[in-house]
Amino acid sequence: MGFDIAIRNGRIVDGTGNPATTADIGIRNGRISRIGRFPRIRAKKEIDAKDLVVCPGFIDPHSHSDLTILFDPALPSTIRQGVTTSLLGNCGDNLAPAPPEKMEELSRILSVFAPPG
Ligand SMILES: [Zn+2]
Repeated sequence: MGFDIAIRNGRIVDGTGNPATTADIGIRNGRISRIGRFPRIRAKKEIDAKDLVVCPGFIDPHSHSDLTILFDPALPSTIRQGVTTSLLGNCGDNLAPAPPEKMEELSRILSVFAPPG
């Protein structure tokens, strides 16, 4: 049975501390179903990752993307860094909850970070 997606020839860093290895990754139904070499098994979408690292998404343990997502919902700067999970509010500054009586104060504080308007 084929895969939905095959990522070929990537340098896999799995986050366990094991050395990187070059292999293929087969994805079916949104889940990794096989890692290894399987050149004869085709996929609907083939991705050549030669000379690229394939790894799990990174966790940003201190993020303020709750603000930046308001200006660019795709969060391209976060995605380009490989971050797939962000932790918010652990320094005490975050946007939620934002009760109505705090909106003026919150707007004033955030105005230094936000683009005009
Ligand atoms: Zn912070």
